[in-house]
Amino acid sequence: MEIWCIIRWDHAKCIVYLIARPHRACALYHLFTFIPEYFDQLITTRGCTGLKVKQNGAHGKGVYADVDFREGDLVLKDQMLAGSQHSANKIDCLVCSFCFRFIGTIEVQIGRKLYLQDLGVAANNECDRQTLAHIPKKTCQINSSDSEDGSYVKDPTSMEECASTSSKYGTPLPKEIVESLMNGELVLPYSKQFPLPSVISCLGGCREAFYCSQLCAEADWDLFHSLLCTGARSKSSDKEALLKFLQHANETNDIFLLAAKVVSFTILKYRKLKASYPEDQGKCTADKCDLSLLSEAWKPVSMGYKIRWWECIALPDDVDSCDEAAFRMQIKELAFTSLQLLKAAIFDKECEPYAAFLSNSDLVVASPVEDYFLYIDDLPQSEKKEAERVTRPVLDALGDDYSICCQGTAFFPLQSCMNHSCHPNARAFKREEDRDGQATIVALRSISKGEEVTISYIDEDLPFEERQAMLADYGFRCQCQKCLEEEP
Ligand SMILES: [Zn+2]
Ligand SMILES: [Zn+2]
Ligand SMILES: [Zn+2]
Repeated sequence: MEIWCIIRWDHAKCIVYLIARPHRACALYHLFTFIPEYFDQLITTRGCTGLKVKQNGAHGKGVYADVDFREGDLVLKDQMLAGSQHSANKIDCLVCSFCFRFIGTIEVQIGRKLYLQDLGVAANNECDRQTLAHIPKKTCQINSSDSEDGSYVKDPTSMEECASTSSKYGTPLPKEIVESLMNGELVLPYSKQFPLPSVISCLGGCREAFYCSQLCAEADWDLFHSLLCTGARSKSSDKEALLKFLQHANETNDIFLLAAKVVSFTILKYRKLKASYPEDQGKCTADKCDLSLLSEAWKPVSMGYKIRWWECIALPDDVDSCDEAAFRMQIKELAFTSLQLLKAAIFDKECEPYAAFLSNSDLVVASPVEDYFLYIDDLPQSEKKEAERVTRPVLDALGDDYSICCQGTAFFPLQSCMNHSCHPNARAFKREEDRDGQATIVALRSISKGEEVTISYIDEDLPFEERQAMLADYGFRCQCQKCLEEEP
């Protein structure tokens, strides 16, 4: 069955405008086609003036060097348009919901993780639902790749796996110790060397979003969260539907959370544009004005758009490529359910004519908890011995998971314009100072002015056939120099 229901037929035309590659004959062509000024502005605000985004016949658009770069140079630091922490990772890391910096203290990071892990096991016994209500239901989500039965969606009622994973977490700490870590009574040695911003709560009163600063809290509220907040001051039109949507996303694939943020961003921006639009101009019909405002709001997304996002979800390792069609269909069906729930939750009739389309990248922020334990390990022998009397049991309780970084998925407007090469001249690389959710691209070798900046979407060291199979997930067949040479 074709999934068309998210798109109402009477809006078919608008939708074609919004998502299809623009056609010259289309009246609104200029609104959806490549807009160099948009990218020039983006590059200026990012302070990465060594780049130019240009139209590129083969791939639609590409990023080009406007100066010479040497090996190791920072090419681009791209601010995300929207990002979302993976549901399961929310147990491991407490980060700002807007900029993804770690927040709280080293003790809170550790204590909270151990506390929630314990709770995840307790959930198996149906205990204390109230407390669980504000944390993601699935403590052992996600990777579609670790599904065994090929159904790609874990049964949310089966928590056995969560219980069994508890064994890998090492030797549990007594409950009182965990609590005193969380409430600040127990201070770990040398932890003051790793100060983190204190935790600011959500303006809407939910207990799901936390921030590093009032600035981040306000910006998130303004741009995304006011429509997706489950708190008392939420602006969602139907909170029950919103809760259903969030649960569905947490239980299936949290890329829907990212999609929701992008949709929410567009609706909020559209409303702002509309509010500031001089009504008394009266030159154009209401319909036409609205559509152009909507496309203006949608521009940051459409400009980065390469492929429908359910088509770019990588095929899990355990799925035979001949089952790919079935897999894609299942993802589409999930997307359909998800979008219906989302529509009910934050529905804005005026913004109906579009669905969420974006290309996403990994979001990774290194953990200060890992740094902390490495620091302890590097102390001079006597100090180390002294500190380890306190830290050793904590490390044992964390087990192998002490170094888990913040993981999620995000949409980066400039990075998403970079084309792939199996012999790339740049790559995403987090330097020591990059402790937030921005994307950092550095030059792998010298890049001369005018040359296209390319990154690899996959592990470029794989054999030719495997590379092509993986790149098919991105919707193209690679014809880079390396591929042309290796093609049998
Ligand atoms: Zn922040
Ligand atoms: Zn909230
Ligand atoms: Zn290639």
